[in-house]
Formats: sequence, C-alpha cells, structure tokens
Amino acid sequence: MKPDQDDSSTSFWQNINNVRENVWFALSTMWRLDKKLFIFSSSIYAFQGLTPILIAFLTGQLIDFTIAASAGTAGLMLPLSMLAALAATQVLFSHSFNMQYYITIRLRKVFSMYLAEKVFDKFQQLDHNHYEDSTFNKLANKITYNVNVISLVPERTLQLLTRVLQLVATTLAIIVLSPSIVLLLFVSIIPLVVTLMKTARARWQVWDWIDNELRLRNYLGRTLQNVDEVNELKIFKLSTYFRALWRKYYSRTEDARIDVERHSQKRLLGSSVFEGLIQFGIGAILLLRVVRNAAFSLGDFEFYRRLVADFSNASGQMASGFQSLSESNLFLHDYRDFIALKPQVKHSKKPTHINEKVTPRIEFRDVGFKYPKSNKYVLRHLNMIIEPGDDIALVGANGAGKTTIIKLLMRFYDVSEGEILVDNINIRDTDISQWYKQVGALFQQFNKYPYLKVKRSIGVGDVARVDDIEGIQAASEKAGAHAYIDKLPHKYDTVLTKVFDDGTDLSGGEWQRVALARAFFRDANILILDEPTSAVDAKAEYEIFERINATQKEKTTIIISHRFSTVRNADKIYVIDDGKIVEAGSHEELMKQSGMYHELFETQAQGYR
Ligand code: ADP
Repeated sequence: MKPDQDDSSTSFWQNINNVRENVWFALSTMWRLDKKLFIFSSSIYAFQGLTPILIAFLTGQLIDFTIAASAGTAGLMLPLSMLAALAATQVLFSHSFNMQYYITIRLRKVFSMYLAEKVFDKFQQLDHNHYEDSTFNKLANKITYNVNVISLVPERTLQLLTRVLQLVATTLAIIVLSPSIVLLLFVSIIPLVVTLMKTARARWQVWDWIDNELRLRNYLGRTLQNVDEVNELKIFKLSTYFRALWRKYYSRTEDARIDVERHSQKRLLGSSVFEGLIQFGIGAILLLRVVRNAAFSLGDFEFYRRLVADFSNASGQMASGFQSLSESNLFLHDYRDFIALKPQVKHSKKPTHINEKVTPRIEFRDVGFKYPKSNKYVLRHLNMIIEPGDDIALVGANGAGKTTIIKLLMRFYDVSEGEILVDNINIRDTDISQWYKQVGALFQQFNKYPYLKVKRSIGVGDVARVDDIEGIQAASEKAGAHAYIDKLPHKYDTVLTKVFDDGTDLSGGEWQRVALARAFFRDANILILDEPTSAVDAKAEYEIFERINATQKEKTTIIISHRFSTVRNADKIYVIDDGKIVEAGSHEELMKQSGMYHELFETQAQGYR
C-alpha cells in the first residue's frame, strides 16, 4: 500500500479511541510515577490554556477604557491598571513557556526510565520462542528505535489537553455572542484534522514497509564502524561494497518517510487555505457588527477577534498535538503489545522447592525435541542420568544435538516429548530461579562485559559476592587467567575495551579464560561448559582441567568438547549422533568398543601424528 492511500480499517473513531485510551494510560502512569510532578505540570499547562482568553479580555477592556478616557468620560487610572494587569499576565505567560522545558525534561526522565525498565524486564521474562521469531524481532526493533517517541507521550498528552481546555473556554466565550460563529469555526478545522490524522497513520505504517531494509541498513552501518570487524573489511576491500549497500538502503528507507511528508504537505496547504477563507468571513461578520451595532464596542470587536484567532491557533495546535499523539500512540500500542507478551515456557505458579545447597540428580527420560516452527526432531528418545558429582562429556559431530541438550536443561525451551527431572521433580515444576542458582554455565558464545573492570566481569558470576576480590582471584587462578590479569595496566581494575582510557583488549583465549573464571566464581553445584577451552592452548587447557578435577569433586560437571584431550578425563562420555545417544562409557570403555568414539578419536589423533 502507498502512503497516500487510506487504510479503511482505521476509522476516525478508532483513532479517537486510541488517543483516549492512551491519554488515560499516560496520565495514570504519570500519576503513579510522580504525583507532585503531575500536579505541578498540569497546573502550568492549565494556566497556559486559559491565559490567552484573559489577555483577549484585558485587551478589549483596555481599548474601551482608552476610548472613554480620550472622550473624557473616564479617568486614566482604568486604562493604566488594565495595562499593568496585561503586563503582569504577559510576564507569567512567557515564563510558563520557560518552565515548560524544565517540566518536559523531568517528565521525559521519569517516563523514559519507566518504559526502558519495563522493556528490560520483558526481555528477561521472554524465551527463545520469541527471540528467534521474526515477528517478535520486528516489534522489538520498532520499540527500540521509537522509545523516544513513546516517552514523549505524557508531555504531548498535557499539550493536547491544554489546547482542548483553551478551545473549550474560547468556544464558551464565543457561543455567548453567536453559536453560528462557533459552528463555522469548527467546520473550518475539519480538513486540517483529517489531514493530520492521515499523516500520523502513514508515518506509523511506513515502519512496516521499511522494517527489513531499516534493520539491514543499521546492521551495515554498525559493521562499517565496528573495530572488531574492521580487519576483514580492509583485507577483502569490503567497505566500498558495504557502503554502497548501506547508501542504497539508507536512501530507500528515508525516501519512503519523505514521501509520506510530501503527500501531507499538499493536503496541509489545502486545509490552511480553507481555514483562512472561513476566518476572513467571521472577521467580516464581526466588522459589520461594530459598524451597525452601537452596543458592540471596538473593545468587544478586539476581544472577539482575538478569541477567533486564539481558537484557530489552539485548534491548529490541538490538531497537530493530536497528530503527534496519535503517532506516538501507535508506537505506544506496539509497546503495550510488547509488554503484554507472555513467555511460552510457562513457569509453575506453585513451584516445587529444590534444595539449593545439594547437587541434584538429573535425568533425561525419553526426551524428544523439535525447535519451534520446525517439524524435525533434533533429539529423540534420549535417556541419560547424571548423578550428583558426575563428570560427563558430550561428544559428536556438529549439529548432533549437544547444545540443544544443554538448552533444554536450562529450560530455554520445553521438551516436546518425555521429561527432564531434577531430583525426580519435572523441571517444569521447579522454581526456575532456584534451579539457575544451581548452575554455572559457559556457552560457546559467552558474554564479555567489556565495559566493566575485569574484576567485575568475573564478579558478576555471583552478583551477591561481586566485591569478593579474593574469591575473584581464586576463580581466575583456576581458569588460568590470573597471570595475565596481574600484568594488565591496572590489574583487576582494568577495563577490557579500548573505548576507555587505559582500557585494553584481550586475545580470544584470554577472553575465554575470563569467562571461565566467571563460571568458576559462581561456584555452583552444576558446571556446564560448552567448548570452554576451544581458544586456549593445549598446555593451559591441561592445567585448567587439572584444577577443575581437583575442586569439583562434589559437584557435577557437564562438558561439550571436540577436543579429546578434554573429553578423555570425564567419568562418562556420551556420544551423540543425530539426536540420539549412540555410545556411553569411560574413555577406555569406548575405545575398546571400536565404535564411533574410537573412530572420532583416531581421526583427531591422526592429525597430530
Ligand atoms: P551441536 O551442539 O551438537 O553442534 P545443536 O544442538 O546446536 O548441535 O543443533 C542440533 C540441530 O538443531 C542442528 O540440526 C541445528 O541446525 C538445529 N538447531 C539448532 N538451533 C536451532 C534453532 N534455534 N532453531 C532451529 N533449529 C536449530
């Protein structure tokens, strides 16, 4: 659909309803977040809404009193006091605009923080079913880019209500003189209101049309200035190619938005001309009254002429306020849809308690699993018992299903068949936060937290002990990280990014050891390591596993690795092939079987011979 076409599903009343619903949301949220600020800002805005009428009234009075004074029928005191009242009102009126900015930044602070924190919480609450879903990603993308627009909703709401107040007060004042003038005034603004609402809708819709290209353009833009990716770009001379792509998508996405505004400009001009003609007509009616009706003074003429001008001003501002509000409201609707998303991995309302202090027994009982939106079983009839203190390894070709087993154990997804038991309790019935306390995990794609000092990067493994520097050092010694951290410019206080002064970067293996230290620092009963030492040299790896074996006695360790030097030390090795366990036993047992493990081991060993 083109931007200038109507969306028949969105009626005028639906738009009004959206605005009403969201005005209520903005006001009630503001009231809940900061009552004092709410009262303070509403009073200033209400003052702004009513003052123009007072100014019109005082000006009318001033003219009549001045005429009377010049004709000698009244003293000078009256026009002088009107002048003084006008000056005082003007000062307060002007100052109210200065205060508006102050109010605005306070409102934005409160609201932006509130909105952002809700989004953070929601991201945590949702699960991989969402993270891997393109509709979810579209929605999340829209919200992330437009959170600023959404945080303007409270001030825009107050601005709109101010204009409504002004319009109502002005209408009441004019209706006393002539109801038909009021009618004419309302007719004069219809085209403007319709145009602005159409534009608001089109501005929002354009996001849907450009969403994919916008994501691509942002990705390209980020890549072109990402120091971690710059080397390959240089060598492959990719930057010219990427820049051309970025340029193409940047132009296309922005042009789509410019198109919307171009269509709107044409309509706006038409509406303004229509409004101007009616205004002229009303002015002429008022003029005729002064000329023909002695009771209608020049002061009255000026009072009403100003009211009519104020009405037009206020209605124009109200319409554009309505437009910007309905535009932010459309995003606000998205935001509320986002916040309303429910995790698909359901957590039990009355979870069964698990003892956090004791290492649990884990059992996979006839587990089958298909990824969401996929018909293919990635795991099928998988049975595995992990006793407390077991040291197990999962091996197998890429895509065999090893990481999937860990993801299920972490309850990132629910199993499609069978069950996973933790101390004989179905993992679905456990308290997930209690279960996570039992687990320390290092994934292949681990987090780096480079903006934190290295001690924090390790300490966040157990936030409750984040300042336990001795524990942090012990964990990094175990991970083989202490020696090089100790040589960093500020030792454990060094920041691990060159973005900051005195910051530094680490090699792949060094990063992996910091992440490993974080997992060790957690000191959890179950340690899960997915390719933990793939970037670490053989000698350091050997030493790390020596230390793990010495300290993990009571605890369970689950390792996924392609390196047999790592795998062979496990008590029990599971060989996974195409989602099934095909062999299980110690290194010696499996070597004797001369099966798949033996074959994989020999293939790797040959590489070293
Ligand atoms: P491994 O860790 O043994 O290399 P994985 O457990 O990562 O294997 O993957 C097992 C299978 O599941 C592979 O065929 C992979 O393509 C598929 N798979 C992995 N993650 C997803 C996902 N998020 N959505 C759909 N399929 C997936």
